Amino acid sequence: MVARRTVSSCQHAAVPDAPGGRPAPLVAVLGGGQLGRMLALAGIPLGLDFRFLDPSPDAAAGAVGRLVVGALGDEAALARVSDGAAVVTYEWEGVPAEGARFVAGRGAPVLPPPVALDVAQDRLREKELCRRLGIGTPEFAAVDNRADLERALKELGTPSVVKTRRGGYDGKGQAVLHEPHDVERAWSELGGVPLILEALVPFDRELSVLAVRDHDGATACWPLVENHHAGGILRRSLAPAPEVSAHTRRAGEDVAARLLDALEYVGVLAVELFDVGGELLVNELAPRVHNSGHWTIEGAVTSQFENHLRAILGWPLGSTAALGVSAMVNCIGALPDPADVLSIPGSHFHRYGKAPRPGRKVGHVTITAADAGELQARVACLVDLPGLDVPA
Ligand code: AMP
Repeated sequence: MVARRTVSSCQHAAVPDAPGGRPAPLVAVLGGGQLGRMLALAGIPLGLDFRFLDPSPDAAAGAVGRLVVGALGDEAALARVSDGAAVVTYEWEGVPAEGARFVAGRGAPVLPPPVALDVAQDRLREKELCRRLGIGTPEFAAVDNRADLERALKELGTPSVVKTRRGGYDGKGQAVLHEPHDVERAWSELGGVPLILEALVPFDRELSVLAVRDHDGATACWPLVENHHAGGILRRSLAPAPEVSAHTRRAGEDVAARLLDALEYVGVLAVELFDVGGELLVNELAPRVHNSGHWTIEGAVTSQFENHLRAILGWPLGSTAALGVSAMVNCIGALPDPADVLSIPGSHFHRYGKAPRPGRKVGHVTITAADAGELQARVACLVDLPGLDVPA
């Protein structure tokens, strides 16, 4: 945990109740998926009320707050969701930044600041920001046309990966170049939109760091998390990541702190990292609560969802310390029987209320334990349950 400035006070202020009771502070959330739903599940005990904007009338967060159905860039819908809100936040980095700025222009604070969307929506801007801050990334070059791609490939060599600068997620909008002649295929698959070429990094593992920053600039990091992907989708996270040296832990915290400060950020930020022999390279940023932080609901003193809300509301941050060790396994495309999951000691089951479809995240299981051995034994009980990708 990092706390460069800790606030502690034992003075208690009385909270006056208006006649008839104080209305619950309203948090407006742009996006109404499972992340919004889990924000509300953390915020309702704090006396918060939630309103979501989502294009789907079946949005998962509709079960835990009022749902405005509309496009995330639609000004009338944005006005409806944010009217009367104490604060507006977002649970998806694809929210149009102009939409977030439109809301901010109407008076409600939008946190994290919309500039975080500008950066996170463009892989080139993300990497340029890191470079400017002295943060390591895979080598990269901007590609705006076919000649740029040839030139960048000469510079970076193979293997490398070409990605769309905008709109890619879960491994979509990417093509790996193993040989120089793969240019033809990559260009025909992805050409015509702004691209970035990155050296393909022979990483030892993928990690992420989640951090939170409050209005006064105080920050805190949860322990580094080890992430396992397949087909570009996060399958499992282990927290705290095993065998992290003090050097690597500090490097992760430093990356997060520099980005948070540079963006004058308020809220939770997730940074996806490649661990290459203990050195960390940034893959991408998510200016929101993140799948690799779901373990914090049961596995940390304060969850990413609660601390995000505390930060954006100007409330004191809670401790980010881990309670034992945790594994989070996503349910993808199918859901196990709750009884099968809940028979495992230390297990916690979250269903998002979404219809299962191939490749769709429809829930997750977190298993907590006192130590790595106990955790491994408990996770092994998930093998063969539908939707859960656990090594045999
Ligand atoms: P992304 O959508 O950028 O997160 O990429 C999806 C996955 O592709 C990552 O989680 C990595 O497993 C892999 N990947 C992406 N970029 C690179 C890279 N430059 N070097 C090695 N692997 C990468």
